[in-house]
Amino acid sequence: MLQTSRSGALKARCPRLLLETALGNSVDVPTAAGSDGLIPVSIRWREGVIDAVDPVPEAEGLVLPRLVEPHAHLDKAFSWKDHPNPDGTFAAALAANYREHQTRTLQQVQARGERALQLAWRHGLRAIRSHIDSVGPGAACSWEALTALRQQWLDRLELQLVALVPVEHWSTRDGEQLAATVAAAGGALGGFIQPPCRGRQERRGLRRLLELANQLGCPVDLHIDEASSHPAAGMRQLLRVMESMEVSVPVTCSHASSLALLRDGPLRHLSDRMARQQLQVVALPLTNGWLLGRQGDNTPLRRPLAPIRQLQTAGLRVAVGGDNVQDPWFPGGQLDPLALMAMSLPLAQLAPWDHHGLKPFTTDAAQLMGLAWDGVLRIGAPADLIHLQQGGWPELLAIPSARGVLAGGEWVQGP
Ligand SMILES: [Zn+2]
Repeated sequence: MLQTSRSGALKARCPRLLLETALGNSVDVPTAAGSDGLIPVSIRWREGVIDAVDPVPEAEGLVLPRLVEPHAHLDKAFSWKDHPNPDGTFAAALAANYREHQTRTLQQVQARGERALQLAWRHGLRAIRSHIDSVGPGAACSWEALTALRQQWLDRLELQLVALVPVEHWSTRDGEQLAATVAAAGGALGGFIQPPCRGRQERRGLRRLLELANQLGCPVDLHIDEASSHPAAGMRQLLRVMESMEVSVPVTCSHASSLALLRDGPLRHLSDRMARQQLQVVALPLTNGWLLGRQGDNTPLRRPLAPIRQLQTAGLRVAVGGDNVQDPWFPGGQLDPLALMAMSLPLAQLAPWDHHGLKPFTTDAAQLMGLAWDGVLRIGAPADLIHLQQGGWPELLAIPSARGVLAGGEWVQGP
């Protein structure tokens, strides 16, 4: 491995999905890749930009682009210690979150955000989308702290901020004002819609949210159908609204867990409607796995999780996110994209050597977030890499304790 100022080179194996060599797709990569989908390559960079990617006969280790976290909650990260949820139920998480929000201070959110970003940076994340609880006493200080951190971290990591409120809030005067404030801060509009989602009030909120997003040019990212009952009740309301209006901004549905409770036929029909509206989905296996389907002391027999493969087959872009980090909703998590892969792949029965298994953690997650770079290693791409010096997928799935992280052509961790 060579290194001068923001220049260097390495040899490692890279997943075929994440590789575009100088010969583009005409290179005989299918035969170069083993059954693990990895291709030995030499990657060289100068002044922080990749300037050569070439297949080589053999190489050790694994190289990936710096990765992204499409769904987090930095405003409440690490609040489990003072606001635990030992019952592990959705209702108890919401209640603990509510109590925490009443006492939240600017200093607390600054400290949580800084700690989270330091971890993310060292673990190899280049972008994070964080939702922010945006009604109530903790809202203003959370936005103040996280917009300041977004600015401070701009050169290292892109932080996207999304306003999280009950969807009905957008049809109020306060909601309209919040939308203007969020748009001025360069944020996105979100909201949660919970079962039973009976109708008119939620649809009015959703319509107003989409109208405001259209007017202000803000992306939308909803918490929708994070539930073990009322399959797809929120999604049906959203589709009803979207099918009756023009929407010109990207709309992401985070969770979409209860869709897993639909039978095959209705799921196919719903997925086709979602695809026609160009909806994007963020599946969140860890928080869903922890909270949903609890049956007292019994092991749950139903595990609601967005049906990732069925949605992909219908043509939707699906990403996988980590969601909560040591807060009342989930006691674990450490903003580590490799740990997220290691823990989520078995829950979703996805394999990283298949494109549809790897895309939700890499290219599709980057595109869903609207990032300038899709994460494919090619000439002209940023020299932003995660490098494991030894091994391949088994070592990654064992959650490596050491890794190299290259950002803008400089090693910030390792190699
Ligand atoms: Zn969330």
